Amino acid sequence: TWPLMSERKESCECAIPYDIIETGIHSKPNPFKTAQRQLDEAAALIGLDPAAHQLLRWPLRELHVAMPVKMDDGSTKVFRGFRVQYNDARGPNKGGIRFHAEETIDTIRALAAWMTWKTAVLDLPLGGAKGGVICNPKSMSPGELERLSRAYIRQAGRILGLEKDVAAPDIYTTPQIMAWMADEYSFMQGNNEFGVISGKPLALGGSAGRNDATARGGIACVIEAAKELGIELQGATAAIQGYGNVGSFAHKLATELLGMKIIAVSDSGGGIYNPDGLLYDEVKAHKEKTGSVTGFPGSDSVSDETLLELNVTVLFPSALEQVITEHNAQNIRAGIIAELANGPTTPEADKILFENGCYVIPDFLCNAGGVTVSYFEMVQNTYGYYWEEDDVRKRLEKKMKTAFHSVHETSRKYKVHNRLGACIVAIERVAEAMKLRGWY
Ligand code: GLU
Repeated sequence: TWPLMSERKESCECAIPYDIIETGIHSKPNPFKTAQRQLDEAAALIGLDPAAHQLLRWPLRELHVAMPVKMDDGSTKVFRGFRVQYNDARGPNKGGIRFHAEETIDTIRALAAWMTWKTAVLDLPLGGAKGGVICNPKSMSPGELERLSRAYIRQAGRILGLEKDVAAPDIYTTPQIMAWMADEYSFMQGNNEFGVISGKPLALGGSAGRNDATARGGIACVIEAAKELGIELQGATAAIQGYGNVGSFAHKLATELLGMKIIAVSDSGGGIYNPDGLLYDEVKAHKEKTGSVTGFPGSDSVSDETLLELNVTVLFPSALEQVITEHNAQNIRAGIIAELANGPTTPEADKILFENGCYVIPDFLCNAGGVTVSYFEMVQNTYGYYWEEDDVRKRLEKKMKTAFHSVHETSRKYKVHNRLGACIVAIERVAEAMKLRGWY
């Protein structure tokens, strides 16, 4: 659990004008503390300059907003939200916006730090940011969601911009929500500036291939990892935790491109298991009809805990943070963990998995396909010229492959787990940009 403010000692030497905010709703470790620990470990290994280290321990800027929204029943509800701009030394801040009931500033800070490492690992000319709104989108009507999305942009729009900060979808935010946001921003500017939001529908300047980009990028990493490890993927088994945009496309692509057998999948309603394999089209149709994967004909139900510990070749955590911890890491039997979610593994679990020889493809490498195609979308918006889907895929696969090998080789060189290797690659790149700009 999170320590009380009075019990905590901030190790940071410089004066920090704000502190980690306690919300009291979490029973899990504070994700921002996790992000800072990961940075500290990498910084120590590479002997990072102390000033660069301090700059990277906290966001450069953050905005906290309150948003009054008219609800369908005539009442006005005040929502709270954030936009954290972690670091823009390498280019405009970049990152998604989450709509989640348990959102906290520290989750957003952690995710903004990971976006900074993500764009750096992929060598995109971007920084890192994240936004969040505390709300329960599942209980809101489309009209309420539209008004909330516009209200968020009316507040956060003042710090967004093509050269400042470009937003995107994340948990429970969709291309439709991006369209409302791009529209609101354009009204605020007095001209169309769709490029300030990526992950838009195709009709509003979205990129071909953005929908399945996160999963496709993860699959490209799995292919490279399997080559390194000498694993045959054709017919090999996998389990997928989370069945939103990312998890469901992972099911589709792992089956179609790799010939893998997906034996278990889960969503927030529960999990399903069939040792003979679950067919994508059928599970997807079932979820569309019933709202959940649970109750899929011919499958047994399986808990999330059991799903994570199944004896599979590849495990795809594709939902939320902190699902692989010191409590279950010892029981994980997958050969490869492909982290399509952000932050699914805690530092304690990382150590255990590394010792047990499990090959983890860390989140900010594995799920970077989304932001990579977001970057392609920004490029296309700027040029006003749009690429074929095939072109997007080829460019994405090339980027993922290059990033994978720089992380793999760095981890081997330092004899550390891949997350630490990826942190080293990213931090060295961000620190170099900060140095060149004269920030330290
Ligand atoms: N939300 C996605 C992520 O966490 C995409 C971010 C983006 O495209 O900017 O990587």
